[in-house]
Amino acid sequence: MSEGIITIKKGREKPIRNQHPWIFSGAIFRTENAVDGELVTVVDHQNNFLARGYWNSKSQIQVRILTWEDEPITDEWWENKFEQAIKLRSIIRIYSEPNQEQVACRIINAENDFLPGLIIDQYADWYVLQALTLYIDKYKQKLAEIFADVIGADQVYERSDVDVRHREGLQESTGLLIGDDVPEVIEIIESDTVYNVDIRNGHKTGFYLDQRENRDELARLVAFYVDTANDDVDQIQLLNLFSYTGGFGISAHNIGTPVHTVNVDASYEALELAEANYNLNDFSSDDEQTAAFIQADCFDYLHHCVDEGKLFDIVILDPPKFAHNKRQIDRASRGYKDLNLNAFKIIREGGYLMTFSCSGAISRDLFQKIVFGALADSGRQAQIIQHLSAGDDHPIALTFPEGEYLKGLLLRVF
Ligand code: SAH
Repeated sequence: MSEGIITIKKGREKPIRNQHPWIFSGAIFRTENAVDGELVTVVDHQNNFLARGYWNSKSQIQVRILTWEDEPITDEWWENKFEQAIKLRSIIRIYSEPNQEQVACRIINAENDFLPGLIIDQYADWYVLQALTLYIDKYKQKLAEIFADVIGADQVYERSDVDVRHREGLQESTGLLIGDDVPEVIEIIESDTVYNVDIRNGHKTGFYLDQRENRDELARLVAFYVDTANDDVDQIQLLNLFSYTGGFGISAHNIGTPVHTVNVDASYEALELAEANYNLNDFSSDDEQTAAFIQADCFDYLHHCVDEGKLFDIVILDPPKFAHNKRQIDRASRGYKDLNLNAFKIIREGGYLMTFSCSGAISRDLFQKIVFGALADSGRQAQIIQHLSAGDDHPIALTFPEGEYLKGLLLRVF
């Protein structure tokens, strides 16, 4: 099949030359023989080559660019891209840890690994693939096979049950691509902590891999908290809001400092896995001294804590994505503000707030402004101790600011 040709309007080629991977319909002058879900060549108004990518007329992002060089997209091309991505992960910290067999790591981070629409995460000897666009969906079986050959995998499961696919005219899709008998849970090790991951039913591909470094950061904070606290602390009171399967709560227990965690999440299944994860690590979930698991709406729970005058040493706020696009920014901002305002109200003098937004539409600057607004209304004072982001296995292409969806602040509160 001959490749379609997309001609860009005069004056609209700059973002493409600057290697932004998306082309919207407004920048397109003419299309010739472009087939949805197939490769296209992108040229400027004088017919000079600009890029090669794939086409979907049904998507707002009509072209996603795979290369800015005039080269064919072959199996070898994909092999080479996969090798590059794997190489990065082998030089970053997590791959040099001893528990290679139970590693959990993002291997392919879509646009940020220059492979738009494709995510592949590793959970021990299973790989979970997410196809976010029509072209990737069409070729997912072949891509899974090429990837498996390169990395030496024999088990790949698909978890393409994400909303963004609807914008590509696709339905959700899950199931085996390579291998058989998906286990109910897969045991992974992250920083000496064991977690059970359910790749078939868990959120995203099963686990919030992007928070690994921040869970480690919390563990470090817990370790030095007792020394920096204003009062004598026998046991650190930690409130883990939007706890999912307990990640932040469990990582805080690994240090040996006595901690009591209240894990709050709306999902019963997530809390069940959280309890199981506490037990897996021998932090007994039955022991009221260790942890509580509360199924509740976190907005309501925070209001309840404020009303009851409860106080915590450390509060984690890791809500789901509130803004899915620019139109939702105002509403999302109000949500973040409400959460952060009430969190400030229940933090002990000298305590900490670790607060996140994973909304791509909310920039780091805006997020900091929202948190500042919440602080001002709370009448408290705070210092930024750290700016937080996703870990090293979630690189961000410098040409693709949209890739920086996870942003957070570690604040000391007075
Ligand atoms: N911090 C977690 C990931 C949190 S993901 C980790 O490190 O693994 C967001 C979680 O918020 C999901 O588990 C989801 O079930 C939960 N959630 C979404 N809306 C909620 C609400 N209004 N109240 C309570 N939990 C909510």
